[in-house]
Amino acid sequence: MPTPETRSLRFAGAGDVRLTTAVEQPLAPHEVRLRPLAVGVCGTDAHIVGGSFPAEPGVVLGHEVCGRVVDVGAEVGDGVGPTAPRVGDLVTVEPHRYCTACTWCRAGQEHLCSAKRGYGVRLDGGMAESMVVPARIAYVLPPDTVPWVAPCASRWRAACTRWTGSPWSPGSRCSCWVPARPGRF
Ligand SMILES: [Zn+2]
Ligand SMILES: [Zn+2]
Repeated sequence: MPTPETRSLRFAGAGDVRLTTAVEQPLAPHEVRLRPLAVGVCGTDAHIVGGSFPAEPGVVLGHEVCGRVVDVGAEVGDGVGPTAPRVGDLVTVEPHRYCTACTWCRAGQEHLCSAKRGYGVRLDGGMAESMVVPARIAYVLPPDTVPWVAPCASRWRAACTRWTGSPWSPGSRCSCWVPARPGRF
């Protein structure tokens, strides 16, 4: 069976964004494949396209993503990730990938990981018909979540990774102050 092709919106250089077609990327055992349903257009995206925020040429844009899981790697569903996403689940995605093995990652301070890379900036993001991420950064949402609301949760997760030493638990209240323009949907 031929490998499916998917369309993606790629950053090709300052002021240059292109709709491209590529062969669907294979899944590693710990990864999941999403069909993105809603993606925030953030101030960061505007700065990337405008040339004032560095990004990898050719990268697929989009770091605030809600999508449905359409495929899982061989090891997913076997306790991988905080919620072990399964095919059919609605998920939002932590907008960074980090190594999980360095001193900072093991201390729960992944935001300090020197191997941290951002989706839609250094890694292919969600403005595409297909997105592949490690299962451990795909967070399962309630099935009745409105997809265009969920990208807000990825911003919330990003803020939480910068809140060190927080003694919170389910039901805790918090306030997030974001010193940037919020995503546009
Ligand atoms: Zn953003
Ligand atoms: Zn690390």
